[in-house]
This record gives sequence, structure tokens and C-alpha cells, in this order.
Amino acid sequence: MMPSKLLDYARAARGFMPDDEGVALYEAAVAAIERVPGAPIVEIGAYCGKSTVYLASAARDGGVTVYSVDHHRGSEENQPGWEWHEPDLVDPEINKMDTLPTFRRTVYGSGLEDHVVALVGQSPQLAAIWGAPAAMIFIDGGHGEEPAAVDYKVWSPHVAIGGYLAIHDVFESPEDGGQAPYEQIYLPALQSGLFAERFVTGSLRVLERV
Ligand code: SAH
Ligand code: MG
Repeated sequence: MMPSKLLDYARAARGFMPDDEGVALYEAAVAAIERVPGAPIVEIGAYCGKSTVYLASAARDGGVTVYSVDHHRGSEENQPGWEWHEPDLVDPEINKMDTLPTFRRTVYGSGLEDHVVALVGQSPQLAAIWGAPAAMIFIDGGHGEEPAAVDYKVWSPHVAIGGYLAIHDVFESPEDGGQAPYEQIYLPALQSGLFAERFVTGSLRVLERV
């Protein structure tokens, strides 16, 4: 179980990860590390580091590292005028979103900084040089059709056999939310025959690389 102090900390952290899905994410990461010992965890889409804390708690237990990918400029839906915009996350000097300082504070405050490496840049550019099979890859990056499809294409080959592909914001019905993670990541993964569903919590889906 995740230590209760850390759980409280993760729950209070800024971001987009419901409590029950955060716990499920932690538990999936623990299981993934047990299945593929020593292999890293990769996160695509960190924002202010909320999901990172859940993952890093599991990484510490298992003696591995979370590599957390984000350009920290926000997704389309985080930009001014969009539904998920938070104005205080704009760097006033350049008038661009910058979640990196908040991410750094969140991770530092969790006490798990030694278990997290921030990779700041475009997800496809980082995937292109990624070489290590991962115990778990958690995709929660851009939720447009194109970025979601690209994240599936470039990151799913890096899940170790027996490891997990975790996908956030999977909504089967358009009334519940955007369809890109469902249509561009979840369905193609299952249809490929390379992944089988293992856990479902809210909009979190965890698939095993079989
Ligand atoms: N997991 C987070 C929420 C992530 S929000 C939490 O628990 O709160 C999605 C994030 O994906 C944003 O921070 C955005 O900057 C990032 N993102 C979107 N497209 C990206 C891309 N192409 N490369 C890197 N990061 C990207
Ligand atoms: Mg999400």
C-alpha cells in the first residue's frame, strides 16, 4: 500500500488525476515492477506532477526510476480560452504555459525526487531515442486525435513483454469525455493483439503486453 502521508500528498497535489485512479495507477506500477524487475516506468504527460507522485511511490518501493516526459507548455486544452486553462501557470515574461516549476516543487515536496527524471521536450523526439524496455508506460499526454495516435505509435513498442501500457482518460462514450485516448490508443492496442486488458478504474485502463 502507498504510505498514507504520501497518498495525502498526492491527493492534494495539483493536476488531473482522481483519487481512485491515482491509487490504481500506483498499484499497477507496483505490479508492473514485480513483473519486470529493474525496468523503468515512463510517464507521458506530467503537468504539475500529480500522477508522477503516484508512480514515483511505486518506483521507490521497487528500486527503479520514473522517466517523466512533458514539454511543460500544456496541451491544446490547457491553452488560454480552453476548458482546462489555469492562468497562473503562464510564464508572464514569455506569455507561455510553464508547468515545470510547479512540477519540480510537487516532486521535491513528495521526497521522491531521487526516483524521478524529468525529460522536458516533445514526446516523439524523446521516444525516438528511447532504448530501454519499460515495466510500464503511462500515456496521459496530448488528447487530440493526432498527438494521441502518435503517442501510441511511438511509445507502445517500448513496453516490455509482460509489462503494462496504462492509458488515462479513456471514455467509451462521447458524453463522458474526449474520444482520442479511446479511439487512438486503447482500441488500436487491443486490436493489435499485442495487448490484453488487465485493470479498469474510472477512465484508467491498464493493458498487459502479452
Ligand atoms: N498526468 C497529469 C496530467 C497531464 S495533462 C496529472 O496527473 O495531472 C497533459 C500533459 O501532456 C500536459 O502537461 C502537456 O504539456 C503534455 N503534453 C501534451 N502534448 C505533449 C507532447 N507532444 N510532448 C510532451 N508533452 C506533451
Ligand atoms: Mg489525464
